[in-house]
Amino acid sequence: MTDATALDCDVAIIGAGPVGMALALSLKDSGRRVLLLDARPPKAWADDPRALALAHGSYQLLERLDAWDAGASTAIEEIHVSQRGGFGRTLLCAADYGTVALGYVMRYKDLAAALAAKIAPEQLLGDCHVEQIETRSEAVALTLSGVNQLVTAQLVVHAEGTPVDDPDVRVRDYRQHAIIAQVKPASPHHHRAWERFTPDGPLALLPLGDDYSVVFTVPSDKAAALLALTDDDFLNALREQFGRRVDFVSCGARSAFPLALRVRSPIVQQRQVWIGNSAQTLHPVSGQGFNLGLRDAAELATALLDQGQGDYGAALAVYARGRQTDRRYSMGFTDTIVRLFSNDFPPLRCARGLGLLALDLAPPLRHFVAKRMIWGARAWP
Ligand SMILES: Cc1cc2nc3c(=O)[nH]c(=O)nc-3n(C[C@H](O)[C@H](O)[C@H](O)COP(=O)(O)OP(=O)(O)OC[C@H]3O[C@@H](n4cnc5c(N)ncnc54)[C@H](O)[C@@H]3O)c2cc1C
Repeated sequence: MTDATALDCDVAIIGAGPVGMALALSLKDSGRRVLLLDARPPKAWADDPRALALAHGSYQLLERLDAWDAGASTAIEEIHVSQRGGFGRTLLCAADYGTVALGYVMRYKDLAAALAAKIAPEQLLGDCHVEQIETRSEAVALTLSGVNQLVTAQLVVHAEGTPVDDPDVRVRDYRQHAIIAQVKPASPHHHRAWERFTPDGPLALLPLGDDYSVVFTVPSDKAAALLALTDDDFLNALREQFGRRVDFVSCGARSAFPLALRVRSPIVQQRQVWIGNSAQTLHPVSGQGFNLGLRDAAELATALLDQGQGDYGAALAVYARGRQTDRRYSMGFTDTIVRLFSNDFPPLRCARGLGLLALDLAPPLRHFVAKRMIWGARAWP
C-alpha cells in the first residue's frame, strides 16, 4: 500500500445521512472547508425503505437550505389520535394553527436525494470507515480504512446514526420492532394521519402520495411472524390492530426495525460533537427523531457561525447548553408515550382515555401538543 494522502479540513462530519448533510449545507457559505465521510458508497440511502413525518418547522429549515423537494412530500392536514379498546380520541387540524399543514411525509431516500443534490461531489468521501480518532491540542486526526486517506480537522462532528456498544450511551430497549410498509387504502386519505395506540405498541398511518406509509409496532417476538405473512394476511393483521375506520386493498414490501432509546451524554468533548441519531435515537412514535436531529444540525451551525473561526470550545459549550431543553423534552415525550400507551392495564387505559378526551375538549391543552409537533423546539417554554 502506498503512503496515505493527507486531507486537511475545518469540519469533518462522520456520516452523510440526512442530519450530516443538513449540517454540511448549513455551513456552505461559512468559508469553512467541510468534509463529509460515509461508510457506505454514495447514494446507498436509495435503498432505505423508511418514510419520515417531518414537522412544519423542519420543512422551513430544509427550504432555507434549498433542499426541499415539494413534489416528493405529502401534507398532513389532520392527525387523529386514539387508543384501541378504550374510549377517548383527539383530532389536531392544521387550520386551527393558521398553517396549511401540521407536517409532511417524505421518503427517507427522497429527503436524502434533495440534500445530496446540493452537496459538492468533492465534499463527500464515500466507502470509508473511520478507524481511529486522535484528538490533539491543535487538531483531530482521523485514520480511514477503505480509502488510503488521512484526514485532519479542527472539529469532528459525529452524525453516523444509531450508536452501538458505547459506554457513553444509555440504552432502554423497548423490546418492540417497527414493521413498516406502504399500503394502498380503499378510499382517499384526505391528508389525515392516524396514530392509534394498542397494547402491542403504537400504530401510525401516514399519508404518502395516494397511499399510507404504515409504522406497525409490535413486541419483538411477533415481528418475524408478521414479516412472514402473505400480503392478505398482513392486511388482516393491520385491520385487526387498527379497527374499521380505514380499510386497505394492497401492500408493498415490509421491513423491520428494532426499537430502543439511546441517549449519549455528554454530546460534546474536546473538538468533537454528536448530532442526530448518534446523539439520541428515539422510538418513532410521533415522528420526532429526524426532526430533532435537524434542529441539532441547525443549532450547531448557528453556534459555529456565531463564534467565528477557531474558537470551537466556546461554540461547543454554547451548543451543548442550547440543546438541553429540546433534547430533554423530545426524548421525555416519546419515551413517556411509549411506556404509558403500550400496555393493556385497565386503570392506565382509563387514564389514557381521559387524557385524550381532555385534549379534545380543552383547546389550550390540544394547542400545546400541536404547536410542539409543528414547530418543535421553538414552541418549548
Ligand atoms: C421505522 C422508523 C420510522 C421513523 N420515522 C420517523 C419519522 O416519522 N419522523 C422523524 O423525524 N424520524 C423518524 N425516524 C427517525 C429517523 O429515521 C432518524 O432520526 C434519522 O434517519 C437520523 O438521521 P441521521 O443522519 O442522524 O442518521 P442516519 O440516517 O442513520 O445516517 C447515518 C449515516 O452515517 C453513516 N455511517 C454509519 N456509521 C458510519 C461510520 N462509522 N463512519 C462513517 N459513516 C457512517 C451511514 O452510512 C449513514 O449514511 C424513524 C426511524 C425508524 C427506524
